Amino acid sequence: MTRKLQKGPFQCRECGTCCRWPGHVLLTDGDIARLAAASGLPEKLFIERYTILAGNRRQLSLAEQPDGRCIFLKENRCTCYDARPNQCRDFPNGWRDTKGCPALEGSDKVQLKR
Ligand code: SF4
Ligand code: SF4
Repeated sequence: MTRKLQKGPFQCRECGTCCRWPGHVLLTDGDIARLAAASGLPEKLFIERYTILAGNRRQLSLAEQPDGRCIFLKENRCTCYDARPNQCRDFPNGWRDTKGCPALEGSDKVQLKR
């Protein structure tokens, strides 16, 4: 997920690598409501157009483009940044694998929760 540059120890390089990693971007009900509103779509249509059933068969996940990129990644930029899912907002906390994130490599500040 491309993040806006931040002050402090974690400075996203906006490379878009984390938005290409395999795995699900799981969606909460709040994520869906926010993303649907930002997309100007009713939730039902947003779900049909932009989500898939996650592997756990209990949650929806963002759909991917044919090459595995997140459906909302365009030219290394998140096109739904202000409405992005909580999982993206929480990065890197809660992510099992952060390998390849240039902002985190060499950092000892990462604390993975699960
Ligand atoms: S929603 Fe945005 S930040 Fe999250 S994975 Fe997709 S492109 Fe990246
Ligand atoms: S991989 Fe790291 S540096 Fe690259 S967009 Fe994601 S958070 Fe930012």
